[in-house]
Amino acid sequence: MSGESQELDDSLDDSQFPSIDFDDFKCSQCEKYLSVAPIYIYTDPIGKNKNVCGRCSVPDEGSKIRNVSYEILAKFLKFPCSSSKNCKEKLAWGEAEDHEAKCWHREMVCEICSGPYTTTTLISHYKKHHQKELFLDKNVVISEGDIYNHTYPKVVLVACARMVCLVHIQVETTIKIKVQPVFATSIPHALTVTFSTRNQIISFKNRQIKQNPNNTKNWNEYDFNIDHILDIFKSDSSEFKMELEIYQDGPNNDENASYNVDQYLSNEASGVMERISNTLECPTCYEVMAGNIYLCKTGHSICESCRKLVPVCPTCQGQYMGGRNYALEEISKKLKDFL
Ligand SMILES: [Zn+2]
Ligand SMILES: [Zn+2]
Ligand SMILES: [Zn+2]
Ligand SMILES: [Zn+2]
Ligand SMILES: [Zn+2]
Repeated sequence: MSGESQELDDSLDDSQFPSIDFDDFKCSQCEKYLSVAPIYIYTDPIGKNKNVCGRCSVPDEGSKIRNVSYEILAKFLKFPCSSSKNCKEKLAWGEAEDHEAKCWHREMVCEICSGPYTTTTLISHYKKHHQKELFLDKNVVISEGDIYNHTYPKVVLVACARMVCLVHIQVETTIKIKVQPVFATSIPHALTVTFSTRNQIISFKNRQIKQNPNNTKNWNEYDFNIDHILDIFKSDSSEFKMELEIYQDGPNNDENASYNVDQYLSNEASGVMERISNTLECPTCYEVMAGNIYLCKTGHSICESCRKLVPVCPTCQGQYMGGRNYALEEISKKLKDFL
């Protein structure tokens, strides 16, 4: 995620991060750790509060508010990797999504036999069991006959700068291409496919299909219109060559950068614990919030004793609907010995 504060990251070393048990910090939708922004408190139709992580979409029925105070505090935590229990990496806020997409311990599925593998076993599995379908050359030749008979290359191993990807090709009324990063230092964002015959070349860049927000495979999918391509090539020859190029750059849509945590923090004291207790401070009595923490309808937190004293939120005059900030309560519980 862009917009990370260089200043902040440099000032924190591992020993300053509190070590806590993360089992209570899980998303109610995907059950992964609450380590990807934005975190929403979702109130379901029967009035139950649940946290939903940035990997997931908040269900339409019910209401939601962004858990801003949790996100601010999460900057001080190092989360376990959600991809695998075997992974020992500790991930700072903002690092989880990228790491989990390329974690070497993550589970991968064979597209042909659906078996579960890991990054280290998947390629050898393809080599051993799907030798006929696996191609090792990024220059793929497809003839009209191959399309009819379904004998075109289905899986291509493409190695390029700093990554190895499996590229899955499906030719029907369109050419669908899925890029599955296996070993990568970052998530690939762009694909260029060059279709060529003896006399003609057409290059397509990044015809990416919109991602399903709950897609946990970390694949990018691309779509190319085959009728269009075939028409161009029909007069020329009965086969075409597809050259696959994968790049790491691409459109930088940082949809989640909607509030400036760094600016908030730059005004705070420099010690980590001091900053944590400042964030956990009740805006009304200035005590560190412990026990039940209540939320106004726009997401401001308040401690239990102050909640009993005020009819509306002192910060925004908003109503209290009975919502609680469970994630913040957990943090406060776990950090009370440090504060
Ligand atoms: Zn989730
Ligand atoms: Zn990992
Ligand atoms: Zn298989
Ligand atoms: Zn208070
Ligand atoms: Zn408020």
